[in-house]
Amino acid sequence: LLAADGSSRPTIFAEMSALAARTGAINLGQGFPDEDGPQEVLDAARAAIANGVNQYPPGRGIPDLRLAIAEHQLRFYGLRLDPERDVLVTTGATEAIAAALLALVDGPDDEVVVFEPYYDEYAACVALTGARLVTVPLAWPHFQPDLDALRAAVTDRTRVILVNDPHNPTGAVFSAEVRAEIVRLAEEADAVIVTDEVYEHLIFDEPHVPLATLDGAWERTLTISSGGKTFATTGWKIGWISGPADLVDAVLAVKQYLTYVSGAPFQPAIATGLRLPDTYFTDAAAALRSKRDILGAGLTAAGFAVSRPRGSYFTVADAADLGATDADAFCRALAESAGVVAIPLTAFVTAERRDRYRTLIRFAACKRVEVLEEAAARLSRLR
Ligand code: PMP
Ligand code: GLN
Repeated sequence: LLAADGSSRPTIFAEMSALAARTGAINLGQGFPDEDGPQEVLDAARAAIANGVNQYPPGRGIPDLRLAIAEHQLRFYGLRLDPERDVLVTTGATEAIAAALLALVDGPDDEVVVFEPYYDEYAACVALTGARLVTVPLAWPHFQPDLDALRAAVTDRTRVILVNDPHNPTGAVFSAEVRAEIVRLAEEADAVIVTDEVYEHLIFDEPHVPLATLDGAWERTLTISSGGKTFATTGWKIGWISGPADLVDAVLAVKQYLTYVSGAPFQPAIATGLRLPDTYFTDAAAALRSKRDILGAGLTAAGFAVSRPRGSYFTVADAADLGATDADAFCRALAESAGVVAIPLTAFVTAERRDRYRTLIRFAACKRVEVLEEAAARLSRLR
């Protein structure tokens, strides 16, 4: 986690947001929406603060939010959760991922299988546990793992297979075949599946399939989500993790010493969000889908080759045709030359695989339409 000289480095998100602020560029780097989420949810947080919901809530999360999460899993996926035992509220999905890894993995004999490129926290938290990171590459432009590579990565040392579907940074949604193979391999290796499904409702072409719904998966799967993505409240940091009670208890044992409890007044507000009608969820996905299309068309017109994301906030573009040989340098120059900030995919990969991703760039589509259109206009002047 530290540089060779012992200094700490900011995350790529902090670094690129600072670059956007410094240069006045449009920030299509860090993935956060530039509009507020549903009014009911905002009002519920305001009401909770006004009504004195301001002290430590229960460590597992307030009962009504755990109930709303259980209701949500039943409504959307037919999963039956016991809100008393199978659900834990966390300080964002970030804490759920950290606490799950710290609970399940210990030291250099343990391996964690991760798909690469990966959300940066995964490699950092695996490093915190001291375990070995084993990565399975996802290849441009579809970003589906090769099944033989996946099989080779999972061994009897594998403690956790860490999945992210829909996927950040690529926007991929894993195929049914890949999902089934992940579950089969986890059973064979007796590994736990930790599945980060924060983009569960930001999916464009098909219904989301939680891994926990597959045959044989539930008893070995911890599912993570977050109110930040679904309700455009990334600053509230309310996430959750669900699964069999013994696994959830292990995560709680760690969580209580990481953050103890999570933001009291935001919990009833996220419960309100989870109970919004189906149309809220489908409208949010449709709005982001059309933003994906606007961004994709803009990038194509500017000369990038563009992948077609099936979910998430993100689109990956290849800058090779624009003469890029190093996306990191290209992105730093882009802030000045075009006034647009984006993130090189090399920020999400291991050093050994940098070369494979060296001209690929992640752009965030979760911005207002006029912002995306202005970004497209600026990028079109690159040619
Ligand atoms: N996982 C993924 C894949 C993400 O994209 C994010 C948000 N950047 C997180 C986890 C963290 O979510 P939260 O803000 O709820 O901690
Ligand atoms: N999830 C967002 C992204 O991937 C923000 C992450 C962060 O700031 N840590 O851009």
